[in-house]
Amino acid sequence: MTENTFDTVVVGGGVAGLTATAYLARAGQKVLLIEKNSECGGLVNTFSRDGFLFDAGVRALLNAGIIFTMLKDLNIQVEVVKSPVSLGIENEILHINDVDSLSEYRDLLIKIYPESSGEIHVLIRIIRKVMKHMDVLYGIENPVFKDMKRDVGFLFRKILPWFPRFIFTVRKINRMNIPVEEYLQTIIKDPSLRDIVSQHFFKNTPAFFALSYFSLYLDYFYPRGGVGKLSEALRGRVLELGGEIKTGRKVTGVFPDEHRVKDDQNTSFNYQNLIWAADLKTLYRIAETDTLPPEMKTKIEENRARILGNRGGDSVFTLFLEVNEPLESFGKIAHGHFFYTPSRQGLENTHRQELNDILGRFDKVSKEEVLAWLDKFAGRNTYEISIPGLKDAGMVPPGKTGVIISLLAEYDLFKLVKEAGWLDEFVSELENRVLRVISGSVYPMLKDKIVARFSFTPLSIESRIGSSEGGITGWAFQKVMPVINKIQIADRSVLTPLPSIYQAGQWAYSPAGVPMSILTGKLAADKVLKSA
Ligand SMILES: Cc1cc2nc3c(=O)[nH]c(=O)nc-3n(C[C@H](O)[C@H](O)[C@H](O)COP(=O)(O)OP(=O)(O)OC[C@H]3O[C@@H](n4cnc5c(N)ncnc54)[C@H](O)[C@@H]3O)c2cc1C
Repeated sequence: MTENTFDTVVVGGGVAGLTATAYLARAGQKVLLIEKNSECGGLVNTFSRDGFLFDAGVRALLNAGIIFTMLKDLNIQVEVVKSPVSLGIENEILHINDVDSLSEYRDLLIKIYPESSGEIHVLIRIIRKVMKHMDVLYGIENPVFKDMKRDVGFLFRKILPWFPRFIFTVRKINRMNIPVEEYLQTIIKDPSLRDIVSQHFFKNTPAFFALSYFSLYLDYFYPRGGVGKLSEALRGRVLELGGEIKTGRKVTGVFPDEHRVKDDQNTSFNYQNLIWAADLKTLYRIAETDTLPPEMKTKIEENRARILGNRGGDSVFTLFLEVNEPLESFGKIAHGHFFYTPSRQGLENTHRQELNDILGRFDKVSKEEVLAWLDKFAGRNTYEISIPGLKDAGMVPPGKTGVIISLLAEYDLFKLVKEAGWLDEFVSELENRVLRVISGSVYPMLKDKIVARFSFTPLSIESRIGSSEGGITGWAFQKVMPVINKIQIADRSVLTPLPSIYQAGQWAYSPAGVPMSILTGKLAADKVLKSA
């Protein structure tokens, strides 16, 4: 084998690519991971600024029976702490500490919406059922990471009794595979209440996934030193196992008939198998398929049309603050991971119809009209607020607090504003509004204690991660999903019609996230090893 020839090349050094590379290296393959940024991790990343450590992407991690199982299997040590969640609506704040907090959530909702008490009881009963289903789905070490031949005890004691419950649960959850907004309409009349329950989920999130979140709040954990420690630990293990990593190189050409990729420095790498663990639109845009046999091309073209015709999921706008105020002041109010809605009114049609209207006639819309919409958008939204120092005090200089505030944001709006030439002004206006709302409600100390502020937009996510439409969990929930979205056939999600090319990560399966990216990374590595 020449220097640039590998058993497997993996493109994309997020958690999916890192997982796939680690497993292939462990199996003794000559494997290369190519990452476009100078560091690995993708959306699982922590960076430092002025002595503050901030998480750039995901704020805390969900085990889902996957992350700890993978870490144990690969013999990776990551020091973690629990990452408790608080929920807040206006002045009411609830700290979620165990399953009993669901009753407190019910009481909180009834206090705010007394006229919907009966419907809230129904909602809570459904959430309780969904939590039981989640216990079945995630309450077991994921068998994909277990060696059943060696661990016969696990097979007999755990898998065999679990499997019928799994099948039963999958059937139940498939019945809730409709958009959460639509599902909630069948049980809740008040649109504000529906918004409060669902508006921090992506557009058309399947009802099961959305309503399972109460369970997931209890599952969040945080690596000491930031979420990026997970990626760092995986990267370290890849190198220990003999895998090779090249960072600062973007793959710009894929030539399946030659089993070759090319990077932006015009270097080629040959492979027997390729795992694409980055944005799938990019793969289908750059894959050179003209020289492939016609029967293969038909299938590829069908897939290309489906993939390129679809769009990435919702993106986020994130504001980072360096605050000259001790952690204790913030800790008295809420946990370090906090979902906060400043107004019981909810977004109503602000986000969807009014925004679509603005986007549809953007060239005729005045700045004032956009900013007036932004007022409502910021005032009635649900914020995900993370204070890394409340999870690990080592994340901030003594006496100070780093705050990360984000809300779901529409990529197309930022793109149009940029094309119209006023992105910086728009971002600054949005930052001002977010600060006004948050300092006028839950964290008044933000009014005059902010030392520095900066933000990331959907456009920054697109350019840093290469994520189409700035999507943070792969595909938008469209009627026809371009990838597998049924848990019982998740293993097929890594297959592509491109010869010897597998896909992994948040673009390979929907709904995605860190655990699913890791799972598909392992599944892709398994398929490669089987094919060898
Ligand atoms: C604010 C926020 C909150 C989130 N909250 C949650 C949550 O609560 N729970 C959850 O499970 N998930 C959450 N996520 C989503 C989760 O972080 C991602 O789905 C997951 O990290 C994706 O991992 P990945 O490896 O599949 O892809 P990515 O992290 O996107 O990695 C892809 C990698 O490929 C590289 N790349 C792209 N193109 C090329 C190229 N041409 N050549 C070489 N390299 C390339 C990129 O630079 C990147 O490093 C959140 C994300 C964000 C941003």
